[in-house]
Amino acid sequence: MARYTGPVCRLCRREGMKLYLKGERCYTDKCAFERRPYPPGQHGRRRVKLTQYAIQLRAKQAMKRMYGVLERQFRRYFERAQKMKGDTRENLVRLVESRLDNVVYRLGFAVSRNQARQLVNHGHFLVNGKKVDIPSYLLRPGDVVEVREKSRSIEPIQKAIEFNRGKDIMPWLEVDYDNFRGSYLRYPKLAEVRDLPVNVQDIIEFYSR
Ligand code: SF4
Repeated sequence: MARYTGPVCRLCRREGMKLYLKGERCYTDKCAFERRPYPPGQHGRRRVKLTQYAIQLRAKQAMKRMYGVLERQFRRYFERAQKMKGDTRENLVRLVESRLDNVVYRLGFAVSRNQARQLVNHGHFLVNGKKVDIPSYLLRPGDVVEVREKSRSIEPIQKAIEFNRGKDIMPWLEVDYDNFRGSYLRYPKLAEVRDLPVNVQDIIEFYSR
């Protein structure tokens, strides 16, 4: 499955915001965005007034990059969100938040979505008792995500749990680190996704042009 393999800190600097793509490092003073909070490249420090189109484009790129989704799939999420009943913005957020790799990250079994994606790919997780190794697998309310028994002692999962234990998790999720298990209780609402650094309306307008 295709994925972005370039330098990830560059993406945060390009979008002008922290996208938390590197796990623990993002919370330290080694964060590249903290050190150089301007776009990469020779002309990165130049001040440019963004057009409406550029604002919408940047919002779309930032959200796509935050969730680690490539253009084609992100557009498909948008098209699907449009066809679903209700507010397209809510539907779009619901779709990306329901991805298995995102939920593994949000539950704290990985320190970044990239790592979560890799762990899922390598078959370390069960959904409702069955192995699922597709990062884009969409969970439904009531689904239970569990670390496979033989994977519970692997270093990335142990370290992630150590890093995340005691921290708040999103209100639509529930986690039990002692039993290596978490639940997707319900779909989230857009207003609850407090770490989403973009205006989703800009993305809707970008694709509706
Ligand atoms: Fe972004 Fe994390 Fe790199 Fe900082 S350390 S620039 S938040 S990926």
